[in-house]
Parts: sequence; C-alpha cells; structure tokens
Amino acid sequence: MYKEKTSVQWKDLDASYHLHPFTDFHEYETSKGRIIEKSEHIYIYDTDGKKYLDAMSGLWCCSLGYSQPEIGKAVINQFKQLPYYNNFFQCSNAPAVELAERLVNIAPKQFQRVFFTNSGSEANDTNIRLIRRYWDLKKQPKKRFIIARKNAYHGSTIAAASLGGFNAVHKQFETLPYISHIIEPNWYTEGSDDTADDFGLKAAQELEKQIDELGEENVAAFIAEPIQGAGGVIVPPKTYWPEVQRILKERNILFVSDEVICGFGRTGSLFGCQTYETEPDLITFAKAVTNGFQPLGGVLVNDRVSDVITKDGGEFGHGFTYSGHPIACAAAIATLEIIEHGNFIDKVANDIGPYLQSKWKELADHPIVGHVRGIGMLGSIELVRNKNTKERLEPDQKSGGICREFCIENNLIMRAVGDSMIISPPFVCSYKDIDSLIEKARKSLDQTASYYSV
Ligand SMILES: *Cc1c(COP(=O)(O)O)cnc(C)c1O
Repeated sequence: MYKEKTSVQWKDLDASYHLHPFTDFHEYETSKGRIIEKSEHIYIYDTDGKKYLDAMSGLWCCSLGYSQPEIGKAVINQFKQLPYYNNFFQCSNAPAVELAERLVNIAPKQFQRVFFTNSGSEANDTNIRLIRRYWDLKKQPKKRFIIARKNAYHGSTIAAASLGGFNAVHKQFETLPYISHIIEPNWYTEGSDDTADDFGLKAAQELEKQIDELGEENVAAFIAEPIQGAGGVIVPPKTYWPEVQRILKERNILFVSDEVICGFGRTGSLFGCQTYETEPDLITFAKAVTNGFQPLGGVLVNDRVSDVITKDGGEFGHGFTYSGHPIACAAAIATLEIIEHGNFIDKVANDIGPYLQSKWKELADHPIVGHVRGIGMLGSIELVRNKNTKERLEPDQKSGGICREFCIENNLIMRAVGDSMIISPPFVCSYKDIDSLIEKARKSLDQTASYYSV
C-alpha cells in the first residue's frame, strides 16, 4: 500500500514524475490535476475531499458504477487459486475458457471464437493480423487496404492509432500506409444543407466510392464504431447503417465493429451492432467487459473468419503475455453475471436509458446548445453562439474545455471533445442521479454562456 501524503504532495510528485496519456506535459507541470483517491456508486472523490458525479463511467468502462463487491471477490478468489498463467504452448486456464464460452454464447450467433488481449488497442492490432491471415489463406493477398473513418478512435498503438481518424494524433507519427479514411456520419458538422437522412445515405455511400477507388480486389476490411465515442458521441442518422450494411453485403470485404464503448449494453443491446442490425465479422471489445476493474480486451471472431484461420493455416504468429489472464477473465465473468442478473441491458433499453435521453434532450432549449444527440446511456451536445448559423462560441474548438472547467467546479465529470460535451453515465444511475447530472450540466452551461457573454 502507498504511504499517506497530503494532496499538495501528491500533486507535486505527480507533476514531477508521471507522464500522463493524452496530456500536454509542459502545461501539466503548472496546471496540475486532481488525484482521485476513492470512489463509491457513481461518485469519485479527490484528495482535496471534493466529490464528483462521474457522468463518464471512468473512461467509458465502469458501466456498473464503482461499487461492485462481487467483482472484487472474484478477483481475490482467482488470485488465491491461480494468479497467473499464460495461454501459449498448449496451455489454458479455467476463467479464460469459461469467459470465451460465455462470450460466444451471448454474442450474435455467427460468432464462434474469442482472442483475448489486455486492451482495445491490442484487440484492434489483433484484428489487423486476423484480417491479413484471412485474406492470405483465401489466396487473395492483394486485399490489404482497411477503410476506417475520420474522427474514429480505435486505440493508441501505432496500428490502432492509424486506424483512428484524429489528425492531431496522425501529425505526431507515420501512419500505416494501407489504411484509408472516409468521412464520419456527423450530420451537424458535415451535413451542411442536407436533411439528416440524405446526409446519412451520402456518408454511407462514401464507403462504396472508396472501395471502388481502391479497387474491391485490394480492400480487406472496413472498421467502424457503431457510435463514434471519443470523436464526440456521433450518433449517425438512421439511414446510415442500413446503407453501409447494404454496401458490405454486396462487397467481398470484412467488417469489424469496434464495440469497445458500445459493447455490453451501452446502446440498449449487448452490442451496438445489434442496435443497428449490422452483421460484423469481427467484434472488438474491452473497457466495460470487466467494468474497468481489470485490463482486458479481445476480438470475437465469426464463423466466416474462424473457419478459415483454424484450418491448416499453420501457427498464428501473434499473442500477448497476458492474453486470457486468469484474474482479468475472472473479473469479466463476474461482470457478465451482474449485467445478466441485474437485467442491465433491459434497463438501458427500456428504463434508465429512455429517462436519460428524455432529460438530456431538454438541454436543446439552452441558448448555447446547438444540437443534442444520444442513445441508450450515451449523450452529446454541441456548443454554439448562434443556433441558426452554428457559429461557435470562439474559434479553435476551445469552448468545450471552458465548459468542462465549470462542470468540475459544479462537481460533475463531463468530457469535452472540441466544442461538444459528452456523457456516458453508469447504468446503475437512479432517476434522481440523472436529475442531478442534468441540473449540474445546466448550471455549467449557464456559466459557460455568461463567460462568453451570450
Ligand atoms: C478506448 C477505445 C479503444 C482503445 O481501448 P484501450 O483499452 O484504451 O486500448 C478502442 N476503440 C474504441 C472505440 C475505444 O473507445
């Protein structure tokens, strides 16, 4: 256990020694952050004693909130039984076997196998390897291109960040050459004069155009999140996914549904592909599979891919020391039990999800809210100065950061993505918790409006 320190000491040490993900190191030395020291239900507490309603479920992962002692018990029991063994060299372990079986049993019926990783990023790296093996074994080695979307987030290894569509990230390293990006289905920012439905069709048809441009014989796969999460909770127009699915049906390419956020109930179905009725060949999962309590990710593989890669392809040259880690898998089994026995997917679809959406939509009447999106337990709002012209509060996408500072002042964790604010609250929220979230959000919006003199 760590030694007790004062809040100031923690912050000084942190700023001196610790390099944080997606952080401006130089700025952090002076701004410093918040040290989170404990949690309960949907709340986190920092070392200054401040309590926050965490409307982001950590980083989209603690869907069942922070108080789930059964997951802790599963972790401790597994620690006593077998704290580590690997799955290389013809070995396996009971939690990995049971979790694989359970995931296959609850997934859409075409899914037959699971490959475990420690994270979503590694799972998407694994997808690239699986896709390559598949087409090589099908004797179509020219099929190498993977089509992804702008503003997508698929993780942070070189491969996963290449699949992702963030310009700011791509500027800092050389992306893989066989990945190409099409537009995101963000009607509010990209749709200009079209109706949402028309734009949804056009955005989907960009996939068809890109396949033709690259040549279908060169295209291996398309990867997409059912709803783009880190890109700003982009809920696509309702015409988008049916059109994408039509194109995918007609074309001989694989489809990866990156369900690292949408998976395990977030959209009101087990997976987002079920909400949108798409038929992926590979599903990426991570985050909520262990409620964020242990690092675990993986890929669900359907019959089409599994039939090919499990037949005389030789050794699959890929894997991680912690693939199928027994403690992480035990945590996942306990998490799946809670999701099932607590009827959480049904609650997101029919109870707390619709309640959140009805309250979240009401924010549309706020003077600086230009657009409201959401589904299940996901939501986003776009901040503007002028609702008609969509003029932003200030140039350079800074207004979200300003609003976030007010949220923190008001004991609310909401995330800023450029000029939008996004939420992904835990499924264990009560109606009262949602009311409190909305009240804090509205207050923060009021303060943001006065900051910008709107
Ligand atoms: C978070 C995320 C990832 C990456 O997962 P890590 O566990 O952080 O590597 C991949 N895809 C999506 C959609 C994500 O939200």
